[in-house]
Amino acid sequence: MKTNKERIKRDIESLSEFNATPGKGLTRFSFTKEDRQVREYLKEELKKLDVEIYEDEAATLFAKRKGTDDDLPPIMIGSHFDSVKNGGNFDGPAGVVMALEVFRTLEENNVKTKYPIEFVAMIEEEGGRFGAGVFASRAMAGMVSYEELVRNKDAQGISMAEAMEDFGFDPKKIGDAKRKPEDIKAFIELHIEQGPLLESKSKDVGIVDYVVGINHINVIIKGRPDHAGTTPMDMRADAMNTAAKVIGKVDRYAIEEKNGTVATVGSLKIKPGATNIVAANVEFTIDLRSKDYESIKRVKSKIVNDLEELTKDNDGLSFETVQMLDIKPVEMSKEILSLFEKNSKKNNFSHETMISGAGHDAMVMGNITDVGLIFVPSKDGRSHCPEEWTDYEDLQKGIELIYNTVVDLGEAQ
Ligand SMILES: [Zn+2]
Repeated sequence: MKTNKERIKRDIESLSEFNATPGKGLTRFSFTKEDRQVREYLKEELKKLDVEIYEDEAATLFAKRKGTDDDLPPIMIGSHFDSVKNGGNFDGPAGVVMALEVFRTLEENNVKTKYPIEFVAMIEEEGGRFGAGVFASRAMAGMVSYEELVRNKDAQGISMAEAMEDFGFDPKKIGDAKRKPEDIKAFIELHIEQGPLLESKSKDVGIVDYVVGINHINVIIKGRPDHAGTTPMDMRADAMNTAAKVIGKVDRYAIEEKNGTVATVGSLKIKPGATNIVAANVEFTIDLRSKDYESIKRVKSKIVNDLEELTKDNDGLSFETVQMLDIKPVEMSKEILSLFEKNSKKNNFSHETMISGAGHDAMVMGNITDVGLIFVPSKDGRSHCPEEWTDYEDLQKGIELIYNTVVDLGEAQ
């Protein structure tokens, strides 16, 4: 392999030091001391290379490596370096270290690509501090307004706009971070899998073909509070029993759809919530994900049909649904996908073509450019916890694969 495992290990270990909660997993929020420390480290490493370093109006760190035809749009590679609270060392930084190592390897091997290559290190992907995630990529896609920066506040009540300003950036200029589709040839990200599939199948890398679409729906069922002992069964308007009947079918609807469709009821509130009172009000959430948007729509309509059937003959029962989130699936670039496959074979890496069940910056970048996304195995499928781990051998394989792909897609001469 051309990439260097020891350097990759040193980068990950060095970045892990910039942590607000040592001993309790990694916490690195945006616009903090730890954020600044990562930037300084990355800039020091990038300064050793023949690149132009800059930051955009969203505080995203970039470094541009010239192409032999510098008028062509760059291939952007990288990921995010912020974390969740008490998370791990790999979610995000693995992809930033990928970009750094690809840049070093290109220079070491004196590779000249026709297309420029652009390193990118993003923040607030997790929304850990201000709540709204995939911030840097949304800024590049022109989806972040100044109003959002004023509105979104951290736990101390500091707005994102204030924090940005303290950090040395002008929140009023956020719109200037927008990139035009014709200004980027492609975006390629590496991320840890955060699930158990690659490890359980003993595969080296995951090649993502779709980032799933996501729907969040709140269902509210209204019934009537009655005495649990004195109200006959046929005279009740039982919101909980109605909810249970609907929830009991949600898993089957997802299984019927295939396409990696998953459905989860993760939150349930019952009012009044007492042992001896018939439930008057039940509210639950549905998280629906699939690579096929039609599957999401079908599951949703089956659930609404059930709710209508179960409430129509009982005057005491009614329901409403509120759509909280509606994101369409994003298809990865077929060209980049086939380069990933070709280079996996070349390196004898075993690979699995798979969907991404979680949203990533690549999902947002799919709005403005061709995207490619590689997963590397997560030990025991664990993520967003201190135990999060990827073997350096596995991380290097993912990085090598992107290095080869950048050489191909960038038309190295
Ligand atoms: Zn991440």
